Amino acid sequence: MARTHNFSAGPAALPEAVLTKAQAEMLDYQGTGMSVMEMSHRSAEFVDIAARAEADLRELMAVSDDYHVLFLQGGATAQFAAIPLNLTAAGDRVDYVDTGSWSKKAIKEAGKYCDVNVVASSAETAYDRIPDPGGWQRSDNARYLHICANETIGGVQFTEPPVTEVPLVADMSSDILSRPIDVGAYGLIYAGAQKNIGPAGLTVVIVRKDLCGRARAETPGTLDYAVQAEADSMSNTPPTYAWYLAGLVFAWLKEQGGLAGMAEINRKKAQSLYAAIDGSNFYHSPVETGVRSMMNVPFTLPDAELDSQFLAGAQARGLMNLKGHRSVGGMRASIYNAVPQAAVDALTDYMREFEREHG
Ligand SMILES: *Cc1c(COP(=O)(O)O)cnc(C)c1O
Repeated sequence: MARTHNFSAGPAALPEAVLTKAQAEMLDYQGTGMSVMEMSHRSAEFVDIAARAEADLRELMAVSDDYHVLFLQGGATAQFAAIPLNLTAAGDRVDYVDTGSWSKKAIKEAGKYCDVNVVASSAETAYDRIPDPGGWQRSDNARYLHICANETIGGVQFTEPPVTEVPLVADMSSDILSRPIDVGAYGLIYAGAQKNIGPAGLTVVIVRKDLCGRARAETPGTLDYAVQAEADSMSNTPPTYAWYLAGLVFAWLKEQGGLAGMAEINRKKAQSLYAAIDGSNFYHSPVETGVRSMMNVPFTLPDAELDSQFLAGAQARGLMNLKGHRSVGGMRASIYNAVPQAAVDALTDYMREFEREHG
């Protein structure tokens, strides 16, 4: 059976080389006579898998010893609560930027625990931009500033982290590992795995050590950064197989030239797709040019009546999961690390063909 070109927003495509490797090791991991899925998380083999994954992630992102790297569960959504529980006391003020659906969810959850100040929102322009930082209404006593680095649904991405005196907290679920970043600019980075890291069920948290150890008394132990750091992210049974697969993805990324190499590949992919959109009078990007996401590319057709025809034709060519999020409409192509240029080329070829027939 041929594999398709998978533009899913998440859970998303994984590198084929990673799946092949996992397949080869599925029944008998390196002579152990068992699958990684069947091993104790305390076994020497798994402890080695876990440590190697962490070391490779630290190397890829150049994470210094000032940070813990945690492999947790609960998704980015659990972190929406874990962050205020770990970093604030009841009644504390926190600053959030609202650039889309995921920002909004993070804000709502934090509101259960904190006094949330939304410093700026692009809701009024349908989340087509990042509000100019010069106009942000920052608090003078915020415990942290939260951003969603890449809005997976709206397709809006920060190019640079905002400058701030308070710890910067970033949801990087959909653009972590897509390009080099300066981890030192952040107090905390978190990401659900199922976009750019591995399968669902794993959540990576990179947190500055000095921010840990002051969680509220009621914080669930599994979400307490200090507790998990002390236990090497094994305060309870971790998602072992997802962690192993993430490790295979990290090793694959190193083969692609690390994050600088990956960024170059991602830039070309995004450029060719945006060029196909902008070079037509048929397709339209709803996002301002300077902040268009390199990972999630929403676009619309001139008439929503054509959407189902476009999707059916795409599917017939093995171009899968292009339907846009219901809040935006149209199409969305997610072009994460594991989606190759060949998939983007197949999509842009089809877009030109569809435009010739219906334009
Ligand atoms: C997918 C996603 C989430 C939600 O992740 P879960 O793992 O489902 O909790 C949060 N933020 C962003 C930016 C996402 O892309």
